Amino acid sequence: MKGLAFHAPGDVRYDDLQDPQPAESTDVVVKMRLCSICGSDLHIYHGGLAPPRPLFGIGHEAMGEVVEVGRGVKRLKPGDQVMLPGSTGCGKCQFCEVGLVNSCERGGMRVYGIGRELEGCQAEAILVPDGDFNAIRVPDDISDEQALMLTDSLPTAYTGCINADIGPGKSVAIVGLGPIGLHAIECAFVLGAEHVYAIDLLAERRKAATAMGAIPLDPATALETVMEATQGRLLDCAIEVVGAAATTSMAIALVGKQGTVSVIGAGLVNFDFPIQSVFRKAMTFRASVCSVQRYLPTLVPLVQQGKLRPERVISHRLRLADGAEAYRKFDRREDGALKLVLAP
Ligand SMILES: [Zn+2]
Ligand SMILES: [Zn+2]
Repeated sequence: MKGLAFHAPGDVRYDDLQDPQPAESTDVVVKMRLCSICGSDLHIYHGGLAPPRPLFGIGHEAMGEVVEVGRGVKRLKPGDQVMLPGSTGCGKCQFCEVGLVNSCERGGMRVYGIGRELEGCQAEAILVPDGDFNAIRVPDDISDEQALMLTDSLPTAYTGCINADIGPGKSVAIVGLGPIGLHAIECAFVLGAEHVYAIDLLAERRKAATAMGAIPLDPATALETVMEATQGRLLDCAIEVVGAAATTSMAIALVGKQGTVSVIGAGLVNFDFPIQSVFRKAMTFRASVCSVQRYLPTLVPLVQQGKLRPERVISHRLRLADGAEAYRKFDRREDGALKLVLAP
């Protein structure tokens, strides 16, 4: 089959990859209909998180059609349209039972295309382990593109908002306005936030945030503007969506007493944690990857009712065969690149 593989930093290619090889009776094979590129795929693209071997497929956001099920699969059959949460769990341990795959006790959380085990989703076919748990039938009134956004980026944004304790009347900063940051604006409003400040270096991304009802801020003046607007009290909540030291520091600086900072940007390895500032403000600090399965029951109805329109962040629709071009565009943020969706 064809799919995208990493060759060298900045060099992703549309290659001949090995077909999925189901080994367990609970495995499911899905024919990909749509996949997308996530910000964390750029870590691979830049040479971090090197794949375990050549021609190992990358990508972890996809939806498609079930084409093969093992004997142990109960809930799915060939022909079912499914969405594939980017992170998978065993489905049976105490954490998976409540959807918290990021704490899975049997083998840990596994992400497609990252790590050594599961090959990526940016491919014509995908092997899904424990299919009954890790492939979810696309609900009624959810479009293919919405289903795709529900596999990773929207639940990640929502996780960030929940971890930031966003609720009615709260003031919020979102630091980083890629697709997840923009989703987070929508989620923050749905959770009742009153003021949502949106921060990014790129003016065009701030413009997109403004169109969603947020107050745009340039990083250079964000802190003083928030100081002034709140008479020095600062904000209740901040979400960091970049995964860098400067943006994490900024999120901590923007939050006031009894506030909460939530980091969902991946990639920061070490950080000079300003514990004195956190201590003084009696602040809560959380950092976590998303457990998609946990929040789908909440998010699906919000999308069905039109309260969340995650497909709004899709900027480009391309072919899988143009994957190299898609990665290049996304990496350089060329011509307004936000969320790039690929179809076979
Ligand atoms: Zn992702
Ligand atoms: Zn588990």
